[in-house]
Amino acid sequence: MSIIDGRAIARKYQEILRHAVAVLANDAVIPAIAPILVGEDSAARVYYRAKARLAEKLGIRFCGIKLPEGTREEDVIDAVNGLNADPQVDGIFVELPLPAHISREKIARAISPEKDIDGINPVSMGRMLVESASAATYRQLNARQSVLLPATPQAVMKLIIESGIDIVGQEAVVIGRSLSVGRPLGLLLLTEGATVTICHSKTRSMETITQRADILCVAVGRLRFLTSDMVKQGAVVIDIGINVTPEGIVGDVDYERVAPRTRLITPVPGGVGPMTTTIIMANVVKCASNRT
Ligand code: NAP
Repeated sequence: MSIIDGRAIARKYQEILRHAVAVLANDAVIPAIAPILVGEDSAARVYYRAKARLAEKLGIRFCGIKLPEGTREEDVIDAVNGLNADPQVDGIFVELPLPAHISREKIARAISPEKDIDGINPVSMGRMLVESASAATYRQLNARQSVLLPATPQAVMKLIIESGIDIVGQEAVVIGRSLSVGRPLGLLLLTEGATVTICHSKTRSMETITQRADILCVAVGRLRFLTSDMVKQGAVVIDIGINVTPEGIVGDVDYERVAPRTRLITPVPGGVGPMTTTIIMANVVKCASNRT
């Protein structure tokens, strides 16, 4: 068993981004990210601060907006529209979870597809789906300047590819079918040539499916959901889950028992999380390079 060190892979990629930012500076372009934080949710605040820190490290301008808990939905949309219209802002990101009275879908629709660094606008989703049909690989798809892929699925692909795992022809199973994680991840794995199954809360006999997986990705949001009896010996396991416990952040995988059965596994923390923040910055740089 080996660990996929998300922090190390992210650091390596950050060096490439730093270089890309320096190249853009030659054209007087400074990439700028504008995360929007509404309310006081502790997880959302952590993600917001992590973006501020990484942006500073990479030379990306941070134009975050903090709005109070009671902000009306139309005022959040107004804030998005202001950022859409600002030529100095390249990427817009809405921190989740939003307060209950604000619809994530409405906010997603308001973000300009050209600044949609988490690929959540329906236009971004449509581009991903359509363009994936003509791309032979995930990397070809991601290389297209007009395509902005959702950050977490991209982070998972990057970790798998950087770890030297050949995805082509492999049996990949994703648990979770959300719009931002499970569904797009299934599509990216499919684009790269895996045979993909997506499981969810209505899946019957899930362990008979997960036991077939060469690559098993878990995005459920339940503490220690994936147990060792669900995992084939020698599988690659990617734990996307983030569960906040009194002992700290824990993933969706029963790590102690599952890890010995795997060929490679991501820890939580230190796996998908740091890579996701880095990919968000990569998408900002991509948007900024479209300015030149
Ligand atoms: P979500 O929207 O709540 O989706 C959870 C998915 O899990 C749903 O598709 C749901 O199925 C499925 N599910 C729930 N209970 C299940 C069960 N008993 N058996 C099988 N499937 C079940 O969550 P999400 O946004 O995809 O996020 C998933 C996890 O990833 C969360 O812990 C989140 O915090 C984490 N996350 C991490 C990062 C990162 O950077 N590491 C980024 C984003 C999210 P149904 O559709 O049938 O209800």
